Amino acid sequence: MESTPTRGRINVLPELVKNQIAAGEVIERPASVVKELVENALDAGATRIQVDLEEGGVKLIRVTDDGCGIEPAELPLAFAAHATSKLSNVSDLDHIATLGFRGEALASIASVARVRAFSRRHEATLGAQMEIEGGRASEVREAGGASGTAIEVRDLFYNTPARRRFLKTTATELGRALDVIQRLALAQIGVGFVATHDGRRLFDVEPSMDLRARVRRTFGAELADALVPVSGADGDTRLEGFVAPVRFARGDTTRQMWFLNGRPLRDKILARVLRDAHRGFVVDGKQPTAFLSLSMDPAKVDVNVHPAKAEVRFRDERRMFGFLVATLRPAVQSTDMATPGERMLSFAQRRDDAASTLTPQLPRQHGFADTGALARAERPMFVREAPAYVAPPSAAPARLDEPARPREDALRGPFLQVARTYIVRALPDGFEVLDQHALHERLTFEQLREEFERGAIEVQHRLTPELVEVGAAHARLLEDHFEALAKVGVVLGRFGEGVIAVHGLPARLRRPDAESLVRDVIATIEASGAAPDSGVLMEEVLHRAACRSSVMAGDELSEIEIRALLARAADSPHDQTCPHARPTRVRFTLADLEKAFHRR
Ligand code: ADP
Ligand code: MG
Repeated sequence: MESTPTRGRINVLPELVKNQIAAGEVIERPASVVKELVENALDAGATRIQVDLEEGGVKLIRVTDDGCGIEPAELPLAFAAHATSKLSNVSDLDHIATLGFRGEALASIASVARVRAFSRRHEATLGAQMEIEGGRASEVREAGGASGTAIEVRDLFYNTPARRRFLKTTATELGRALDVIQRLALAQIGVGFVATHDGRRLFDVEPSMDLRARVRRTFGAELADALVPVSGADGDTRLEGFVAPVRFARGDTTRQMWFLNGRPLRDKILARVLRDAHRGFVVDGKQPTAFLSLSMDPAKVDVNVHPAKAEVRFRDERRMFGFLVATLRPAVQSTDMATPGERMLSFAQRRDDAASTLTPQLPRQHGFADTGALARAERPMFVREAPAYVAPPSAAPARLDEPARPREDALRGPFLQVARTYIVRALPDGFEVLDQHALHERLTFEQLREEFERGAIEVQHRLTPELVEVGAAHARLLEDHFEALAKVGVVLGRFGEGVIAVHGLPARLRRPDAESLVRDVIATIEASGAAPDSGVLMEEVLHRAACRSSVMAGDELSEIEIRALLARAADSPHDQTCPHARPTRVRFTLADLEKAFHRR
């Protein structure tokens, strides 16, 4: 046996092998062929595209379009490597407005499958047809047919068995191909799509269907009907689309769809935008559902950074990020955030605990905390008369009972306080269970945020400052941030070497705990690395403070206090999750109840 590696002569690879190598990059499975062919149809201006698949696309993929068609003389060129009608010089790369531009797809596909192409230009009476197999092209023949193009790809990877072995089951390959088609159908409003498998129609949308109608076709009415529109512009950059209520969040990002100038993207920055826009509303690890379409000048984005063109690079990423989050946030806040009771019912049923469905045994995995409070629960009690409520001596003004505009529905009783933690109230079509602590915390925090945004956080000044011992190093650290802290209503001063004087705190905080708040500030500054701006202090410190100073689980509330809390909630647009994204309320509709009692 030879021990030294054999060294052959340097050869120029035959065209077929070159194309097969290129195919390795872009053609991984039937879904990649579908993507390339449908993108070509879209670039050709098609308004109707049909995709027929057999055996998950391995046996056959046929894409038929009504686009501009290809001249008979150019048909062989379409299958030559690096032949494209979409790009003619390098400067064109700076403003790509088509989905394709590399001129490799058809050549790659034809090197790993048996291909037949038919095309007819609109103005021509006859079209042309040719076949390519194993890199060898037949001659072009005249042929009749509807105007547009049809490309048939049979026996994918018939000549590259290594690739073929990597294919998964028919169902998996079909699922991926369908996913590609559906994403493109959501990205390309105005274009109709039909997809069939082994002769059966799996999916279709009409050209006239808008995004919501397409989501309904793809994912069902429950999601489509709950979507909240998003719309905004920054110069000639536009964002349009929908966000879904947080109950549609899931463990993966498959329902997060971004489209850029009609191109479906998977981009980390965009996933981060959604996470930021949902901060405080979605628990960690859950991915919100959204369908968002960006349109912008192609010169402001580089799409040529990834062979499958799924990632992009924005020229001004910071500005883009800021614009997107600012446009999304209000839409996110206006979605319905109540947890549907039906989810809790199914949880309870899974525990085979039907009898307890209506006592609030809360599932932990939906982000509920402290079921221990329930163990402490006594018999539920109707709150009829007001039990004496004594504010603790150190309290800043109690904000629970401040005048709030009374709202009919908010004030309808009776209310039931359960385990001194949950408030139950009737609704016209069911009832709802509120977590008094989470609700109060959210209200306090949103009011702080609102005051902060107006630049007017109301401060409760102290006659005698409260002193907090922090050590010399931390005292110096804090001193650097006194100004930023004052903007969020936290008024501090030095008091000797290692002691901080708390002169004032936001008046919204009920029973504020000065010492813990100062420690939170130190932790936030240390964690932020650079100097945190007042926005960060606001989010990190005040929301913890709001939590600590809000009505606690375990506080008995009088009916007056409950009414005040609910009236304030009715006035707040963001009352449905607490700042930690736990829900503040769970709603049971009559339909949920009927289900629970097997009435339907
Ligand atoms: P690219 O899309 O990057 O240009 P392709 O290999 O996918 O490269 O296609 C090569 C060329 O063939 C395209 O530039 C286009 O001119 C032509 N072509 C391919 N598919 C179609 C189609 N469905 N309708 C019209 N022209 C097409
Ligand atoms: Mg192409």
